[in-house]
Amino acid sequence: MQDLANMPAPLEPEGPWRHCFSYHPMNVEIAGSDGIYLIDKEGRRYIDASGGPMAINLPHNDPRMKAAIAKQMEDYAYVHPTVANPKRAELCAALAEISQSDLNTSYLVSGGSEAVESAMKIARQYHLATGNREKYKTISCYESYHGMTLGTQALSGNPRSMAPFEPMLPKWPHVAQYSDHRRPEGMSRDDWGRECASELERAIHFEGAATVSAFIATPVGCGPDYGLFAPKTYWQEVRRICSAYDVLLIADEVVTGFGRTGTWFAMEHFAVDADLVTVAKGISGCYVPLGAVLVSDRVNEPFSSGTNFIHGFTYGGHPLACAAGLTAIDILKEDRLIENAQTVGTYLHAQADRLTAHPSIADVRGRGLLMVMELVEDKDTGEYFDVERQAEKLFQALALKNGLVFYGTLYGPQRQPLFRRGLPMWIAPPLSISQEQIDDLLSRLDQTLTEWEEALGVA
Ligand code: PLP
Repeated sequence: MQDLANMPAPLEPEGPWRHCFSYHPMNVEIAGSDGIYLIDKEGRRYIDASGGPMAINLPHNDPRMKAAIAKQMEDYAYVHPTVANPKRAELCAALAEISQSDLNTSYLVSGGSEAVESAMKIARQYHLATGNREKYKTISCYESYHGMTLGTQALSGNPRSMAPFEPMLPKWPHVAQYSDHRRPEGMSRDDWGRECASELERAIHFEGAATVSAFIATPVGCGPDYGLFAPKTYWQEVRRICSAYDVLLIADEVVTGFGRTGTWFAMEHFAVDADLVTVAKGISGCYVPLGAVLVSDRVNEPFSSGTNFIHGFTYGGHPLACAAGLTAIDILKEDRLIENAQTVGTYLHAQADRLTAHPSIADVRGRGLLMVMELVEDKDTGEYFDVERQAEKLFQALALKNGLVFYGTLYGPQRQPLFRRGLPMWIAPPLSISQEQIDDLLSRLDQTLTEWEEALGVA
């Protein structure tokens, strides 16, 4: 058994950390970064295995990003969002160029939650402008994640994370997502995809189509099914239903946008066009906070003909963020990082058996450089550890010891799935990772899993 007494203790919220409200850092203090690595004060290098919160698609410490941001800083660092800042126009044009279909305008914000809130407001104002005054509800999936503001947290449909704020949250309707877990025996994925999508039609029916403004979902599943690619039939049926009831389809590509799954946007895998797409994280490689709502021509039409969008943030279209976003897109193209996510991602997924050979890995799934491992205590039941065993914390600590930084959910050790499913753990390194570096990551991960299983008595 692993000697738990010798595990590195987490940093205590004392000393320099005592003024940080509700902050529980992992036990490494970062002093630098380089490519796929984070470097601590002692010079130890850790592979950024989850790319922060599935967010870092560019190499760390890229001189081109630093130069672009510094140059913008020299020219002008900030102007009020209504002052003509040419960098904003350039970035919105670049976004129109890379996005699928007719997403030809963008609304710039500073992160994913702001993007999702803005998309809900664009949808609402679109319906007001087109004579559907009753349409205001946004339907989402149970156990989803679209952000932490009151509006976006209410979308999650997760009673545990919503509980403390319950009286403050809008009551949005929810539907179950596509899940292979619940697929009836003998039914094909394609048929089950249509069947799962029909839940949305039922929800629209019972809520009243005249009141439903939008449906939002992530292209790669959510909660315990994170990383799952539903069959095309699911998304195509969702698209048909949304169009039939004048419900706007919002694809939340905050994680998947900008190459994570081997295409610019994950909805490309399903050949389905959303009406609004929310992005953040990869749009600037996280060098500077940036997010956006990509808006289709149809939704933009009433706004371009004069409807005033009643919304706005001080930092919307911040010049430094625009400079970062433009250069991030250039780097993704120049270094062929999306092609790399495809080829190195294919190599990564070809190693799935090596991971599922571990008694604690019930499933691995995903595409490109997004791989989700489902960690369990027992493969037969598919259940995860009781919270008291602090299994996630131990996994993080062992991974750090072995030179890997993994993302920990914000709920961390308190995480309790509603139904007893495994813990999703993300392999989502910077898209610049090489095949050799994947081999290194996997051997460190093998060691981490073996030690973790030993410590927790999983056989
Ligand atoms: N949408 C999705 C799908 C996300 O994964 C996240 C964050 O992880 C958000 C929205 C919220 O983004 P942010 O943390 O930048 O507000």
